[in-house]
Amino acid sequence: MVKRHLSQLALLGGSPAFPGKLHVGRPSVPVAENRERLMDRINGALDRKWLSNHGPLVREFEQEVARITGARHAIAVCNATQGLQIAAKACGLTGEVIVPAFTFIATAHALSWIGLTPIFADVTPETHSLDPNSIEALITAHTSAIVAVHLWGIPCPIESIGEIARRHHVQVIYDAAHAFGCSHRGRMIGSNGRAEVFSFHATKFINAGEGGVITTDDSDLAQRIRRMTSFGFTDVDCVSDLGTNAKMSEVTAAMGLTSIEMMEDIIRANRINYLTYEKELAGLSGIRLLSNDSRESRNYQYAVTEIDADQAGLSRDQLLEVLQAEGVLARRYFYPGCHRAEPYLSLQSNRERSLPVTERLSSSVLVLPAGAAVDPDEVSEVCEIIRFALKHADDLVLRSEESVTYAIHGS
Ligand SMILES: *Cc1c(COP(=O)(O)O)cnc(C)c1O
Repeated sequence: MVKRHLSQLALLGGSPAFPGKLHVGRPSVPVAENRERLMDRINGALDRKWLSNHGPLVREFEQEVARITGARHAIAVCNATQGLQIAAKACGLTGEVIVPAFTFIATAHALSWIGLTPIFADVTPETHSLDPNSIEALITAHTSAIVAVHLWGIPCPIESIGEIARRHHVQVIYDAAHAFGCSHRGRMIGSNGRAEVFSFHATKFINAGEGGVITTDDSDLAQRIRRMTSFGFTDVDCVSDLGTNAKMSEVTAAMGLTSIEMMEDIIRANRINYLTYEKELAGLSGIRLLSNDSRESRNYQYAVTEIDADQAGLSRDQLLEVLQAEGVLARRYFYPGCHRAEPYLSLQSNRERSLPVTERLSSSVLVLPAGAAVDPDEVSEVCEIIRFALKHADDLVLRSEESVTYAIHGS
């Protein structure tokens, strides 16, 4: 329903536009023939009684990921967090690792979990990924690597980061959790740095429920990574070094393969949603949609906006309240930034660290429902609500303050 009067907003007592709720990260699940293909694959695994340990479905999944990314080697793992830990260990990282503060907490946790110290750097205002200009001041004698994140599927400034790393003799690993199906200068993400790590978690672009893949062009590194994912075994009864268990199961690979078959359809649907956001939010002052370079491959999985409170007349959190009341479950990713989350916040060095862009983004980024969660009509309706809220921002702020005061003091 089109809102014509402030009192029609759910925040102010109206009925919510989406009583069934719109989510940001709803998994794309196979239906119809795709569902049948998934079941056929699972039945095949059950008939073979081969459920893990680098079975035929995992091998096929790895080949598909290698084909799509163009990487020479692809090693499937149980999730991207384990994938990052194994990639970091296999590269022999020690001491300090420079990471962006504006990322999902798993990037930092994966490094801390294996005894490394994440050193938080700032990001660029344009694309929200690691700012090369903030790296060098953080490099010390203890720095062994830079772990950069292709946030939102927008590739990092790979050349600048590589150049800094070479000059300082440190390694580079990419957290490519968001970047499956994305390209940089016409080349698919997957072969940059020492290794890149993709996530196939349920909420990611291509999903296997849980899952990850480490890609690299380095054969020795690939072998070491593969051994590490499987207890350090090189052969039956032969353990060559320390390993863990990070293997992907056959049922997971069945889901991953089926999702990859759906990839073109998912991109098409995501892109239409994204273009709808772009069209409907164009020209609105106070809200900026992060753009996707149409000359590159993109998966259009995230609709990321920044709210400029001064221009919009209301803050990101106030707009979020309006949307949430309507059943639009937008999210404040990655609030409040890794350096403001434990265990990192307790370190004096992180409390004192000034990361102006990360801090601004933490209070201005709003991720809107996209991907499989919505269709273009719903996107239009979400934008309609945003337009309405921005148009009546002053009244809205006043009215919601009154209603809060009433709720507290009224009887
Ligand atoms: C999801 C995500 C991860 C972790 O992936 P899992 O497969 O869930 O372990 C790591 N980094 C980023 C940026 C992510 O968004």
